[in-house]
Amino acid sequence: LFVRFRDEVTPFIRPLDDATDSERETLLGKVLRLACEYKIFSLALPRSFGGQGCSMLALSIGLEQLAQSCAGLASLLGTHGLALAIVGSTGNVRWLQQLAGRLIEDERRGQPYLLSTAATEPSAGSDIEDFETLRRARIESQATEVLGGYCLSGTKIYVSNGSLASAHIVVMPTDRTRPQETLSAFIVPKGQPGVHVVRTEHKLGQRASPAAELRFDDCFVPETLRLNESTLAGRSLDLVLGASRSFVGAFGAGIARGVYETCRSRVDASHGKATLLAQMWQNARTARASYLEANIVNAQVGLVSLSDNGLARLIDRLMPPGLARSRAVERLINLPYLNEQARRIVTSLSARDIAFASSYGSATKVETSELALRNCELSFELLGAKATREDTGLPKYWRDARLLTIYEGTNDICRLDVTNKQTYLNESAP
Ligand SMILES: Cc1cc2nc3c(=O)[nH]c(=O)nc-3n(C[C@H](O)[C@H](O)[C@H](O)COP(=O)(O)OP(=O)(O)OC[C@H]3O[C@@H](n4cnc5c(N)ncnc54)[C@H](O)[C@@H]3O)c2cc1C
Repeated sequence: LFVRFRDEVTPFIRPLDDATDSERETLLGKVLRLACEYKIFSLALPRSFGGQGCSMLALSIGLEQLAQSCAGLASLLGTHGLALAIVGSTGNVRWLQQLAGRLIEDERRGQPYLLSTAATEPSAGSDIEDFETLRRARIESQATEVLGGYCLSGTKIYVSNGSLASAHIVVMPTDRTRPQETLSAFIVPKGQPGVHVVRTEHKLGQRASPAAELRFDDCFVPETLRLNESTLAGRSLDLVLGASRSFVGAFGAGIARGVYETCRSRVDASHGKATLLAQMWQNARTARASYLEANIVNAQVGLVSLSDNGLARLIDRLMPPGLARSRAVERLINLPYLNEQARRIVTSLSARDIAFASSYGSATKVETSELALRNCELSFELLGAKATREDTGLPKYWRDARLLTIYEGTNDICRLDVTNKQTYLNESAP
């Protein structure tokens, strides 16, 4: 399915990279309508919710196929998944069910209910993504508790899909002097009074996924739009990043493979180039093995294990498709008892399992982005100046790969996470 989707969107890829902001929005509208026709947004939702019940592992393989042509488009879809992962990590089934309903309805209408995640600030980027650095992060935003809800103030930058999203998952502390204890997530619908899309960035690469600056000016959100009960920092964030970094690994693997395939079709391997080509193929293979392993670990013990386990899949297969969207089930899901039980399932994941999954996610993000960049370097060795020609597609791969080392935690932060989590696992070994 992803290969067919990729073939259909291929004609949009070059124009998307070269377009002005307004042209890009029009082109993206067409790409997103195509994604709706392919039912890509509901692919991994349970069948009982009206989705197609595709496993996360299969989804990551699909994203690799897409990234082989355009990591920006893979990021466009992956960013949406990151926002859903944050909702999942809070165990807020009420919102998961509501979002699933909206995703399916809007997908049918050809207008996806796209989500973005707004966490980074001008004065705090990496610091938000690591529990220890969060303590001294210079966070300037705050969701101040007021009667009936929260008042959100502050600026968020590099929000992927921020200008396109129907709703933003906004990460802010309720007390900026205590971010570790009060980091929270809010669903803020597009157009909510006080939310402004200030501008979109002129990015080096992955231009198919526009990154926006969002400003929140005393934006009121009712209590019901707060997703978490206890702080996101620590367990929840580790769960989210363990899963999302495993997915980003698929983007790196896609680029590594794309560069290899591009070079293979352009050089004569018999002219002393066979060793370099073999090295590139090995890099693409190693990158794939790396992200598949991380996704398997996450499906066993990380965030994905909550929805992708054997029992949940069996129940989903036995239930009539779409049952969870019926009025009766909706009422059931709204029961405080059920929500409490769902949150309990999330909190029952052990700290060791979360650390294990997180370290695999962080490691694959570093490995795959570096293997993608390595193949870009090798393309120069193989093709010389020809590799700088835009019509080969290789400069785009290089630009796109460079950004993989920055988002979802820079590679330095991911390395720090691997060391911290592995140290913890060794010290807490039973
Ligand atoms: C294409 C793209 C898409 C993005 N999408 C989103 C999005 O959708 N939502 C969102 O909220 N954010 C997004 N971001 C922001 C991204 O998460 C941040 O850029 C990233 O976290 C780094 O933060 P920073 O830019 O402030 O760099 P800094 O944190 O200032 O880092 C600067 C340098 O210092 C290093 N460094 C920082 N702290 C440490 C440390 N403790 N130890 C060792 N080295 C350290 C970093 O590795 C880096 O090399 C996106 C960024 C890009 C480029």
